[in-house]
Amino acid sequence: MKLPPITVYLDTIVRINHLPVSDSGQWFFYQGMLFLSRRKWWADFGTRHATHEGLDIGIFKNRSGNREWLDSSARVPVMASGTVINVCDDFLGRSVIVRHCSNKQSRQVSVYSHLKVPGTISPGKKVDPGDIVGTIADTTGKKSGIHCHLHISLMEIAQQIPDPKITWQVMGEPDPEMVKLFNPMV
Ligand SMILES: [Zn+2]
Repeated sequence: MKLPPITVYLDTIVRINHLPVSDSGQWFFYQGMLFLSRRKWWADFGTRHATHEGLDIGIFKNRSGNREWLDSSARVPVMASGTVINVCDDFLGRSVIVRHCSNKQSRQVSVYSHLKVPGTISPGKKVDPGDIVGTIADTTGKKSGIHCHLHISLMEIAQQIPDPKITWQVMGEPDPEMVKLFNPMV
């Protein structure tokens, strides 16, 4: 997939939210936050029901060198220009799916999950890099005890699946014939 490197995207999150980091690249990831991990990084730190389809972004190092979590005021930018093709529910909030390019067989998308999404973000909306598609959902009161975080996924999805059908039913345990996952860290 041809999208800007993840470091550029993480720097955009820092800039847009005025995060008090001392330097760029000051992010921390538990193993369970990484692409294809089978570990949980919350609750009992047990096994996920499926491998992780993306990257969880939630912890940065502040100017004192301490780890700090993003909170529900954090605004979520898109990483590249494209068009919103669907907004669907996920288990912690809502997900916004942005198409960046397409051909006859498939289209490449980025997915931003566990958000609170304003009504202005809906299918057909054109977006540019850094445009805000929502804020991180407040999950502090949920039973799961999962900290506020942003999940991103990069996927190539077959055209046989129409835009409105692209939900976590399709993306969560993807059929390799229809959905190809990419590592956002590469
Ligand atoms: Zn995730």
